[in-house]
Amino acid sequence: MSQCKNHGKYKADTHTIAGIFCKECADQIKRAQSTVDRHVEPKECFIIYEDSKKGWLSFTEKDRKKNTGCAHWVAHQLNLKGYGTVCAEGYYIRVPDVVARARKIDRNTEEVKVNDIWASKDHTGIVVKVEEIKVVVKEDGKDVEKTKQKILIQHCSSGQGRVATDDFERHFKGRGDFYRL
Ligand SMILES: [Zn+2]
Ligand SMILES: [Zn+2]
Repeated sequence: MSQCKNHGKYKADTHTIAGIFCKECADQIKRAQSTVDRHVEPKECFIIYEDSKKGWLSFTEKDRKKNTGCAHWVAHQLNLKGYGTVCAEGYYIRVPDVVARARKIDRNTEEVKVNDIWASKDHTGIVVKVEEIKVVVKEDGKDVEKTKQKILIQHCSSGQGRVATDDFERHFKGRGDFYRL
């Protein structure tokens, strides 16, 4: 049996979500997990080993403005793993990391589709439904019927404390861009 990567004096003999570590690590991991914000899904992996002084922390405790539950949820749904600042299972936890692997959609020439990523500067979600709806607009004083996309976005919402589904125009005020992997 080998030594704990974080505590060389202890044996690595305990299975955790982050791998096999010592009992001290396992205790710290439990404590860190108990601090994860209630809206974050999944919760158990939203942790990182910081250093020997601070031990294991949740991303709710560490840079919570940059390390977000929304990016983490999207990364888990779309299997976006990598290096850098990632959760204990290797998934991205920052909005720029999630969209960096995707192509921005030009809505003048392309339609938004289910599974596209929606992102603003600090929030992100996934398109779960797109409907064509008819709207009447005034053109040169006349009523003209046009089709428009009604887009529903699922996102891990800190404001609502859960994974929620909301309308792009109504809830997000039409802000942000769409990306395709
Ligand atoms: Zn340890
Ligand atoms: Zn995770």
